[in-house]
Amino acid sequence: MLLRQGATPRPYWASSGHESGPVSTLLLREAEVDGGRVDVRIEGDRIATVAPPRTASGADVEIECAGGALVPGLHDHHVHLLSMAASGGSLDVSSQLDERIREAHGRALPGAAIRAVHYDDVGEGPLDRWRLDALAPGRAVRVQHRSGALWVLSSAALAQAGVAEQVAVRGGADLSDRVAAGIERDVGGRPTGRLFRLDAWLHERLAPVDQTDLAAVGRRLASFGITGVTDCTPTAQVDYFETLARAVRTGTLPLTVVTTGGPELCDVVPPPPLRRGPVKILVTDHALPSFDDLRAWFTQAHHCGRPVAVHCVTRAALLLALAVWHDVGSMAGDRIEHASVTPPEVIAAMAELSLTVVTQPAFLAARGDLYLSEVDPGDRPDLYRCASLLAGGVAVGGSTDAPFGPDDPWIAVRAANVRRAPSGRKVGSDRGLGPAAALHLFLGPLDRPGGAARRVTPGAPADLCLLDVPLETALRDPSSSHVALTVARGAPTFTA
Ligand SMILES: [Zn+2]
Repeated sequence: MLLRQGATPRPYWASSGHESGPVSTLLLREAEVDGGRVDVRIEGDRIATVAPPRTASGADVEIECAGGALVPGLHDHHVHLLSMAASGGSLDVSSQLDERIREAHGRALPGAAIRAVHYDDVGEGPLDRWRLDALAPGRAVRVQHRSGALWVLSSAALAQAGVAEQVAVRGGADLSDRVAAGIERDVGGRPTGRLFRLDAWLHERLAPVDQTDLAAVGRRLASFGITGVTDCTPTAQVDYFETLARAVRTGTLPLTVVTTGGPELCDVVPPPPLRRGPVKILVTDHALPSFDDLRAWFTQAHHCGRPVAVHCVTRAALLLALAVWHDVGSMAGDRIEHASVTPPEVIAAMAELSLTVVTQPAFLAARGDLYLSEVDPGDRPDLYRCASLLAGGVAVGGSTDAPFGPDDPWIAVRAANVRRAPSGRKVGSDRGLGPAAALHLFLGPLDRPGGAARRVTPGAPADLCLLDVPLETALRDPSSSHVALTVARGAPTFTA
């Protein structure tokens, strides 16, 4: 690829503002689009023309694509942006937890906090504040479980977060019932340090998001050809949206960002340029919500005119959610997140309700061996279905669930195709998707994962991913190493 520049590319968000001045143009020469060679001309944030090669006139910036495939920018339909930013500077305790925390404690400056991620209870055993206090006496330490559902805090970190030592004091503090319910306490009422589903709340209390960390996330996603994501964090904090909106506006995150938020923010309109997506609802596996609570959340979201995105990772969670849908009805855009275990007998019901599944095939590549040893044998055939859902008429969108799964969507594309654990063993009974169908998981419309793929066509947003080889070649060996250029809203955000 050759980049010829007549002008400096604009900063990302400048192209979508209303400021006057000349519209800058970008010309992608000799790109492969839908199997043929074309020149694609971009004006501002839109595709202006798709013309036979060498017929388009000059532009501010010209790029020679040499037959490399030009596809719509990938959209990751389920990520957690602030957790991604936080995990950037964190200690990895997926193994040797004690050694790593002790060592970090020895290295860290007095008063500095330690943040660790990828704690695996199966390999590392139970963790609570007292174990952390022994490893790093007096220090604020917080450790996230690999699922993202649990944080374990040391005593100093609990104090910083304002978690009271006794339940009775809680009424005086500003802890909502939902927050209080997530704080595990022992029989004496003392917090154990284990906080469930309080990720967003903790970010607000302990970890004001570092813009440099978010910028690193933005650059990394652009390098995969990603031009948009849906942040599926069930936050109850409006500040969460403010942080993301600022990052997108300033170009820190060169992406189109769709947000969800939890039921508490059902009627909140996120600040521009964020787009409002479905309401994220957790059917948590460690404590299933009641049918009536779920029913109330579904109904409330639908009344606000918003679909629901329902987290279901177990068979029981999926069956409960489907029972609620049967009761209240579905609306266009309702989706099931993960659908980690889908018994084949419910696929027809999912299709009948027009539900979409947003799944993470890369978990097979990352954790397949763990699934093959730890998951109930009766559930193993039903893990992370794709092909059988599509065959049954259920729309399927792709995502990474980063940072809880690998953030590179091309790993997911490959995994959806081969469906193998790291050891090489097959996982689940589904056959693999063809590589084009696997890529398609990330090419659907932003608000309709699994819908007809977006296209490189005049009038479409100039959200594009250029590969260094034709599509057929790239799909023989799906890898983000083929991404040569990413263009978001008309502005290059990544060049190899
Ligand atoms: Zn998630």
